[in-house]
Amino acid sequence: MRDYHEIDLWRHVKHDEWDSYAWQLRNKITDIDRLSKVLHLDEQQKNDIASVIKVYKMEISPHLSTLMDPDDEECPVRKQWIPSKKELIKRESEHLDAVAEENYEKDFGVIHRYPDRIAFMSSDVCGSLCRFCTRKRSVLAKGRMGLRPKADIDKMISYVANHEEIRDILITGGDALSYPNSQIEYMLSKLYAIPTVEIVRLGTRLPISIPQRIDGELAATLRRFRPLYINIQVNHPNEISPETKKACEALADAGAVLGNQSVLLRGVNDNVESQRQLVHELLKMRVRPYYLYQCDLSVGLEHFRTTISKGLEIMEGLIGHTSGLAIPHYIVEAPGGGGKVPIHPATFVRSYTGHDVYVRNFENKFYKYVEPDMVEIP
Ligand SMILES: *Cc1c(COP(=O)(O)O)cnc(C)c1O
Repeated sequence: MRDYHEIDLWRHVKHDEWDSYAWQLRNKITDIDRLSKVLHLDEQQKNDIASVIKVYKMEISPHLSTLMDPDDEECPVRKQWIPSKKELIKRESEHLDAVAEENYEKDFGVIHRYPDRIAFMSSDVCGSLCRFCTRKRSVLAKGRMGLRPKADIDKMISYVANHEEIRDILITGGDALSYPNSQIEYMLSKLYAIPTVEIVRLGTRLPISIPQRIDGELAATLRRFRPLYINIQVNHPNEISPETKKACEALADAGAVLGNQSVLLRGVNDNVESQRQLVHELLKMRVRPYYLYQCDLSVGLEHFRTTISKGLEIMEGLIGHTSGLAIPHYIVEAPGGGGKVPIHPATFVRSYTGHDVYVRNFENKFYKYVEPDMVEIP
């Protein structure tokens, strides 16, 4: 991580500007001229990036730019936000809407896929644009919608009020914290006024991309709503700056239960070492690992995807080797709309007679478990 004063582009920025969310939003890096004042790019790299941003936008917050290695293309932070010409390769297996969300999506942004809960795509606005976005079709495309109008929010709220089976509302996007505090407060108070609503969760990557968003005023707003679950997304320990730690502390102090949803990305975090370091860093800042996602079959993401065997190898390297608290669920979103499917290393075997049961531990040793006969003892 670099001090922003050491970076050409930000040399003259004042502290109070840097610390302001509005300033960070206004000063996102969206073109190559400004990007090359932050990273050392050669002509080839500049040309490649130029060819990608004609198709998919680039948006990088000033804060994130300080976490990038100016010289190393393999930097795990760079890889997540700097366009690569590999994004322009489309495989036959890939789709614009890889997990067929649009089949379940209402025109006001509600996706009702599971029996008792919904996701609300509240916006297509984010603090910065991740290159591996599963919603690349809407979020990185030109001509985006922005924040959803109040009319859509009201339709979402009536939808929830009219479906008493919905007990859990996930507000995501885009980024749920892209809305002004007053509108977040509006959504939360209307939703919690519905008797059948039990929990609301917010999905946000702003604590990483623009941690300046989490200020006292937001904390004071969120504090009024219980229970409140917030899922962030950290994929590599290098994303965790002192500002991000402070933001998570503030959210936890405001009473939010924090979780992390990360994506398994080739060349970024596809090894046990960085995953173990990541989950430990998360627990230290009161964030529980929730999901580790296999990367979806969205268009142009082949270079980010790795095998499910690799994912299982990482899970084997975590389970038992570290605290149960630190272990995420490894999830494959079933292509074509099947929903989330958890994938577990095989740790249970039954003998061919069907009588004996063995469990396998983290040291790869097998132990016999004697099951009860399940006959009533008179
Ligand atoms: C992921 C998701 C949810 C929430 O699922 P959990 O497994 O409970 O976290 C709800 N609706 C949709 C459409 C989703 O994709």
